Amino acid sequence: MEGTAGYLTAFLLLLKGYKTRGVMGIDMPSNWTALHWGLSIENVEHIISQAESKVKRFATLILQGDTKFNGIISLVLGLMLAPISLMYLVLAQFMLAKLFFASDKCVGCGVCARYCPKQAIRMTGEDKEKRPYWRYSCDSCMACMNYCPHEAIEVSPLLAVVFYYIATVPFISYLISNWTGYYIEKNWIDLIQYISILITVYLVYLISHQFMRFPLVRTIFSKLTHTRYFRRYQAPGVPFAKSDK
Ligand code: SF4
Ligand code: SF4
Repeated sequence: MEGTAGYLTAFLLLLKGYKTRGVMGIDMPSNWTALHWGLSIENVEHIISQAESKVKRFATLILQGDTKFNGIISLVLGLMLAPISLMYLVLAQFMLAKLFFASDKCVGCGVCARYCPKQAIRMTGEDKEKRPYWRYSCDSCMACMNYCPHEAIEVSPLLAVVFYYIATVPFISYLISNWTGYYIEKNWIDLIQYISILITVYLVYLISHQFMRFPLVRTIFSKLTHTRYFRRYQAPGVPFAKSDK
């Protein structure tokens, strides 16, 4: 299920002046620990070793001068599902990132911020009180969640419910309409709604981040999350990852 990823990569290489002689997708362990348990180290290693042999066979073929284009069905499916992928891009960028928080296990070490590939985490607060703050530039790749040495990064279903409410109730456009008495066109309502969602999500997250300085609030958030029960995904050889549970 690589979707458009393989051919998109080929297209980017083409733009950079490379000639593509083959495309192939490989299965990798899923890292989406906001939604499910990470796999055990044994399973992760097994999947990666399968992928490595597949890559070696493919590379040998290409180096011998052959061409091989796999994943056409996956590409067609990926194109059909493109609207969902685009929606995910918007959601991931503007919503999912704002569900992350550091639980009471966080020691403020800053590993998450240092290894984030997008520099999307800002450490806030003084010395021992330092805590990560997730910015809009986060892509929800889950690297920080999986690599935190203290397994302190969680996803908050509480915030998800609040954001869902914010995103589905057109209260800002309704209020403007009521206060001014103007009829607002549907397209404008959508735009106002979208902008107001972004601003409200930003503010709610900022306020909850400030409140999480209080141990009681942190404990409530930490207890009310499903991800505290989830094993994290850790790629073999990552130096700061905890060993398998
Ligand atoms: S890596 Fe974990 S413990 Fe360290 S600052 Fe980030 S959330 Fe806190
Ligand atoms: S989920 Fe990925 S992009 Fe977002 S803050 Fe964590 S490491 Fe960075």
